[in-house]
Amino acid sequence: MTDQNSYEDIRDAVRALCAEFPAEYFRKIDEERGYPAKFVDALTQAGWLAALIPQEYGGSGLGLTEASVIMEEINRAGGNSGACHGQMYNMGTVLRHGSEAQKQLYLPQIASGALRLQSMAVTEPTTGTDTTKITTTAVRKGDRYVVNGQKVWISRVQHSDLMILLARTTPLAEVTKKSEGMSIFIVDLREAIGKGLTVQPILNMVNHETNELFFENLEIPVENLIGEEGKGFKYILDGLNAERTLIAAECIGDGYWFIDKVTKYVNERVVFGRPIGQNQGVQFPIAKAYVNLEAANLMRYKACELFDAHQPCGTQANMAKMLAADASWEAANACLQFHGGFGFACEYDVERKFRETRLYQVAPISTNLILSYVAEHVLGMPRSF
Ligand SMILES: Cc1cc2nc3c(=O)[nH]c(=O)nc-3n(C[C@H](O)[C@H](O)[C@H](O)COP(=O)(O)OP(=O)(O)OC[C@H]3O[C@@H](n4cnc5c(N)ncnc54)[C@H](O)[C@@H]3O)c2cc1C
Repeated sequence: MTDQNSYEDIRDAVRALCAEFPAEYFRKIDEERGYPAKFVDALTQAGWLAALIPQEYGGSGLGLTEASVIMEEINRAGGNSGACHGQMYNMGTVLRHGSEAQKQLYLPQIASGALRLQSMAVTEPTTGTDTTKITTTAVRKGDRYVVNGQKVWISRVQHSDLMILLARTTPLAEVTKKSEGMSIFIVDLREAIGKGLTVQPILNMVNHETNELFFENLEIPVENLIGEEGKGFKYILDGLNAERTLIAAECIGDGYWFIDKVTKYVNERVVFGRPIGQNQGVQFPIAKAYVNLEAANLMRYKACELFDAHQPCGTQANMAKMLAADASWEAANACLQFHGGFGFACEYDVERKFRETRLYQVAPISTNLILSYVAEHVLGMPRSF
């Protein structure tokens, strides 16, 4: 039975690394709207971001369960895995669908940190969640694909060497199924930026390094196509279970951070001659958030176990992500509320973590889309869109 005390060796080691980057570090980065480069470097050098890369390609070959513990501990320590989680799971597309030559070329360098594959470009401004309608095209011309179009909310581009790109290779009107005709490419950002790819940062609420991308006749060598042309949508879906589950674990880490922080505070803060935590009106919302967090954690481990056993886990991964995002948001609200005015002061870190965890109601998939997946695919109700 896995629970929050399992995997103590991993937890202790990640906690020790995180202890070198205390709250002040992340607060300063947030104030400066900077990127925690030193922290991400330290995680990379210690091998944590290569957890899911098999040993034969230079990684540590751990399961999703262990990888999720790493992400959880970062957020539980007060950091934000959102700055670096892409390096852990984006390589899965190469691992699962790349040729042996591509794996040999990229995976050992990703494992060592020599190459950063932190970005994945799927979302577009005009199509949003309706991914099969994407309008970015890649047209084959000899030994190249020529890419034109636009993406939005593409994260960590300025801290990546490589990016996974989803583009349409066959027009929507010419495919029998709308999920066909899209392909996945590895874009070498070091060559692409300024030569067909323009990157425009988006200033946002969570200090997340994210960008709008403009493709104008960007040329990509054909050998950068991953897997078969036209199968890209399926390949992207294959990677989502790991992404959803890791983000669930990050939300769990956030949730414990909020619960620990607020529990300590309400025990110490004295108003009306007694600790505010003595009031049931204060206790119950915190206790309820904790109960929901523990329940979400069970679904997170269920998703991990199925994934690691190579069993279908789409339903559990999505449910874990939703339950964990809801529980961390509930804990965030309680934490902010019972810090009173101090919750709004940056030096308490509550408002920063509150903003950070709110993202996961929307990205990488909104709660509504998870509910519609469960309604349709688990419960057999009619497709709503
Ligand atoms: C900080 C940040 C980082 C991101 N990083 C990346 C990245 O690295 N790569 C990438 O490709 N994308 C990234 N995204 C994009 C993210 O995945 C999308 O924002 C998300 O999937 C929602 O898409 P959208 O914003 O287009 O919302 P829309 O599709 O416009 O939907 C808006 C809202 O409408 C509701 N909705 C939409 N359709 C339905 C429906 N059929 N039924 C019920 N409700 C519905 C949902 O509540 C949804 O939240 C990032 C976003 C943010 C904010």
